[in-house]
Amino acid sequence: LFPVLLHFIFSATTPYTTLPSVLLLGPSGAGKTALVTLFERGPLYHRQQQQSTSTPETLAVSSPVAKTHTSQVPFSVELAVATDTPNPSYRDDLDARGATAKKFLLVDTPGHAKLRSNVLAPLSDLAPTLSIPSTLSSASTSTSTATTSRSSDTGAQKSKLKAIIFMVDAAALADSSSGDALAPTAEYLYEVLLALQRRFHKRVGSRAPRSIPVLVAANKLDLFTALPAALVKSNLEAEISRIRKARSKGLLDSGVGTDEAGVVGGDEADDWLGAYGGDKFSFKEMMEFDVEVEVIGGNVVGEGPGADMWWKWIGERI
Ligand code: GDP
Repeated sequence: LFPVLLHFIFSATTPYTTLPSVLLLGPSGAGKTALVTLFERGPLYHRQQQQSTSTPETLAVSSPVAKTHTSQVPFSVELAVATDTPNPSYRDDLDARGATAKKFLLVDTPGHAKLRSNVLAPLSDLAPTLSIPSTLSSASTSTSTATTSRSSDTGAQKSKLKAIIFMVDAAALADSSSGDALAPTAEYLYEVLLALQRRFHKRVGSRAPRSIPVLVAANKLDLFTALPAALVKSNLEAEISRIRKARSKGLLDSGVGTDEAGVVGGDEADDWLGAYGGDKFSFKEMMEFDVEVEVIGGNVVGEGPGADMWWKWIGERI
């Protein structure tokens, strides 16, 4: 009886807004809001599929996608990923299956570039938390796994950050004619990774802080013009190499980080992303700072690999 009682007291006193969170970042237009909507309505697709003969992908397209979230506050949905299967899907109807699941918050961030510093600042904290508006009300979707918060209300709860999804538009990255999307996208990712690297350096003693993995979600692979995930990865790495070199040159020119003899000091090493001094940047270098970066392709709408690989990635890290 005692363990049962303990469990009861514990769960009764643990507010559900202390759920861990997954932060969704990336340039605007990448498909973040579309992804949140897809995951939020996941179990609903499942029920529709059973009644319909259309393909799941067509259903995903036909369902209205939420308008891009333009407000200045984070927008979060409560989701649950099945833990009793090696291949969980966001379409799982967990209640119907009686599945064991882990709950988490997926937090979409304000898209505007000017607000990015607010988003990035907490990433360097040893134990990063996200402020979640406390009024999580039941969603109108009537699914048991999705709860929505759209308010910018008063009280905010702190949620422990577990993982980051950095979403990119793989079609925009392929298309150099429509304004260069690669440079600003890589710049943003550079800032995210640098913030996580700084966090690693804040460790006390030899114990590294809990790792926060990063998934680069190469979206829109339904479009035949989109770059495959491997090219998204190599293009981002090449652009980050360029940014890293340009920034270090800027620092040297201004004399920041060098001593009287012009030798690079510790400060510059701190501002250098990845393994110090290298020419070509690779995401693998981030493992030196306990930051795992994986690039996985997918799509939110249309025909393609879909979003289940991303969902699985979340399930394994939450
Ligand atoms: P956000 O600014 O990152 O939140 O991007 P949105 O979610 O508002 O998406 C921007 C546009 O891309 C919208 O018109 C979406 O319908 C579209 N979009 C999102 N995901 C996909 C996808 O996988 N494939 C295609 N073809 N379009 C997508």
